[in-house]
Amino acid sequence: MAQLSDDCFAFGGKLLAVEQAAALIEARVPVLEGEEQVALRDAPGRVLAEDLRAPVALPPFFNSAVDGYAFRHADLAAEGETRLLVVGRLQAGAVGAPVAPGTALRIFTGAPMPAGADTVMMQEDAREEAGAVVLPPGLKRGANCRPAGEDMQEGAVALRAGRRLAAPDIGLAAALGVTRLAVRRRVRVGVFSTGDELAEPGRPLGAAQTYDSNRFTLMALLASLPVEVSDLGILPDDRDATAQALAGAAGTHDLLLTSGGVSTGEADHVKAAIEAGGALVFWRLAVKPGRPAAMGVVRGTPVVGLPGNPVAAVVTFLHLARPLLLRLAGAAPDPLPRFAATADFAYRKKAGRREYVRVALAFGDDLPVARKYPREGAGLLTSLTESDAFAELPEEVTQVAPGDRIRVLPFRAVY
Ligand code: AMP
Ligand code: MG
Repeated sequence: MAQLSDDCFAFGGKLLAVEQAAALIEARVPVLEGEEQVALRDAPGRVLAEDLRAPVALPPFFNSAVDGYAFRHADLAAEGETRLLVVGRLQAGAVGAPVAPGTALRIFTGAPMPAGADTVMMQEDAREEAGAVVLPPGLKRGANCRPAGEDMQEGAVALRAGRRLAAPDIGLAAALGVTRLAVRRRVRVGVFSTGDELAEPGRPLGAAQTYDSNRFTLMALLASLPVEVSDLGILPDDRDATAQALAGAAGTHDLLLTSGGVSTGEADHVKAAIEAGGALVFWRLAVKPGRPAAMGVVRGTPVVGLPGNPVAAVVTFLHLARPLLLRLAGAAPDPLPRFAATADFAYRKKAGRREYVRVALAFGDDLPVARKYPREGAGLLTSLTESDAFAELPEEVTQVAPGDRIRVLPFRAVY
């Protein structure tokens, strides 16, 4: 396994801009070694390890795109109707005899074009009369036909290495006759929560306890990524126990995620635990919510310490853990989706950091309208469940007024 050096993230700045974090990950994190062959039905979500070249052309042969009549374009009169004798019938899956001058063949979608024919008239545009077909003028040569290789030439690159395979990619591979794909091995990710106050869902809730939600949010966020997830439970607010757990898990995982315990409070031990077992670069991100986020390497395995507040954990997962994981997985960079919207809220913020404001989107004839979730706390889980997107307010912006054009990141599409 490619191991990270303990100081691979070394970075001089204090508050790291989101873009710098992405660039650092791209530059410093090696792709994990190892690939395997999987059947198509096991391939969705996996990362293609090698370019897939088309072993056959697509479509493999010249064929009709519609139900109609195949004929020689040279037989079609420039003006007035043309009457051609219908000499046969050809369905998809059958091979027909050549079409002689002055004749036509009844043909169905997907049937190979008979030798001699170069054009198809749709059945809706023709009429059959006593064994002949009557065709109107004005059709272009080659109309309603699909040339061999129209979709893809034999030997062309169908799918590039690094692609995360989605349903259409699987369909394309099948259309090319491929049954197995070379994919990168899954990234083994271990997920911890930290905090003396956390209770396991399903157990009785003690006084001063709150149920652990982050671990479940994070495992759900990971579900669509090319990973093998281990649920590593809840760690107490204790430096040595945290350090031991991280060191223990580092040997069997490619990436460790924790949440909570990364601020500068006395009960925040994740930073110290990473330092105890490896090296830490305290990546305070210039982002709200989510500023405290620790990043380090323990025994060659990267560790991302996400903040404890549930919304901050999601924001930093998307900006740190996701790109890091995609990089380890050998996936091509996949920026989070963003599109333009109109704000229907007023908002003020500090310059120098990026802010993510939870909004619900209303779609109309114009740009989608972004309505702000009424409350702002980074601990409000309902601010995520009742919203569709983050309004992404850039570093230099200090205020938003109703009617402003803004950028939104539809997080539900990323989950
Ligand atoms: P911390 O960063 O550990 O100080 O946590 C900040 C806030 O997030 C506190 O109110 C914690 O109780 C809460 N929190 C931390 N971890 C979790 C978790 N796994 N699930 C739900 N809330 C959490
Ligand atoms: Mg805590």
